[in-house]
Amino acid sequence: MTDAATLKERVCRAIDAHRDEIIAIGEDIRVHPELGFKEFRTAKIVSEQMTKLGIPHETGLAITGVKGKLRGARSQATIAYLGELDSVLVRDHPDADPETGAAHACGHNAQIANLIGLAYGLVESGVMAQLDGDVVLMAVPAEEYVEVEYRLQLRREGKIEFLGGKPELIRLGAFDDVQITMMTHQSSRQEGGKFSVAGPSNGCIVKLIRYEGRAAHAGGAPHQGINALKAAMIGLQAIDANRETFKDEDHIRVHPIITKGGDLVNVIPADVRIETYVRGANIEAILAAAKKVDRSLKAGAMALGATLHLTTMPGYLPRLVAPRLAEVYKRNAIALVGEEEWWDPSFGAGSTDMGDVSHIMPAIEAQARGATGTGHGADYQITDPEIAYVAPAKVAAMTIIDLLMNGATEARAVLEEYEPPMSKESYLEFMRNLAQEITWQAAED
Ligand SMILES: [Zn+2]
Ligand SMILES: [Zn+2]
Repeated sequence: MTDAATLKERVCRAIDAHRDEIIAIGEDIRVHPELGFKEFRTAKIVSEQMTKLGIPHETGLAITGVKGKLRGARSQATIAYLGELDSVLVRDHPDADPETGAAHACGHNAQIANLIGLAYGLVESGVMAQLDGDVVLMAVPAEEYVEVEYRLQLRREGKIEFLGGKPELIRLGAFDDVQITMMTHQSSRQEGGKFSVAGPSNGCIVKLIRYEGRAAHAGGAPHQGINALKAAMIGLQAIDANRETFKDEDHIRVHPIITKGGDLVNVIPADVRIETYVRGANIEAILAAAKKVDRSLKAGAMALGATLHLTTMPGYLPRLVAPRLAEVYKRNAIALVGEEEWWDPSFGAGSTDMGDVSHIMPAIEAQARGATGTGHGADYQITDPEIAYVAPAKVAAMTIIDLLMNGATEARAVLEEYEPPMSKESYLEFMRNLAQEITWQAAED
């Protein structure tokens, strides 16, 4: 039996041997950004690399997902390591795709480099033969919950059911053989060390709102119209009036945008559209806030006599942290970069579908500070290729070694200590119950 230190040294050496290729993959994807459920080029890179390494894999999962599997000497536990394929849309980013406006301003390109780096490390070092569990390497689509209309169309066509990649992969059974999940997201925060495990986060649900009024001449006959824009304005003000009822500890965020405000300036607006998330730190708080949002939106329709068409879609669940898994990761990150480069993050008010995974199994979203600038902003850049592309693969490999050697004792202890709040079935049921479409009009007096 080879000891852990020797295995870790071997795997890190194998990753270093492919350092240039790993960085080249991260940089190539950086300048070829693709939005969620459209990441065909990026997925192809993953598939080609897996083929090169002789890793059996499936493609086209949830449209673009790729899932490979490495077998250990025995199958006592299965750990998945994920890389998100998608970019965001920031048109004025210097590396934005001139046609689509897509840009890797969330650093997901580094995640794919991490995933391939880990594959190189585990395969070429031969460590899998020393481990008592399997490793799933999965490139996942559509973490960013964007282009909602487009995804609703995919849903109507039966191509997806859920609008995010991981919920969709859970539904399709891609996580059925997985017991523990890890990934690494880039961080561009100014303070603190180079590595961390992200803390708990907000979850969210998503609302698409359409106020239907009646068009009429805005100058000559406004009394014949029903002004959907005024209805929308009252709806939004009523949401704001509710903000003082949100409790600080629930971290509620409601941030609507009007995506259509009218058609012509001399016509009373008859079709006004709004999109919003309702975010919060726990499911109960999200649902309670969503109820107030719905009530507020109805108030707008009521005041003007407009009709409210309200579509609610499940978003992402709050992210939970598996403490023992986080500890194993922390130990290995410190071993690689030193105690002073470790950072304990606080609550995250954004949302991710890693939250969904964390509701059905122990999961961590590690963070590596390889970027600078504003997340989702035009100044976001990968500035430390070593920490962004290469080092996360090493920490992941070292963590996997600790989890899966010696009969996968540590992986089993992680599983023992973590009680997931949902099963796959209860998760899917919860998500399906959230999806709802209503049409609402005030009753006539
Ligand atoms: Zn993002
Ligand atoms: Zn992201």
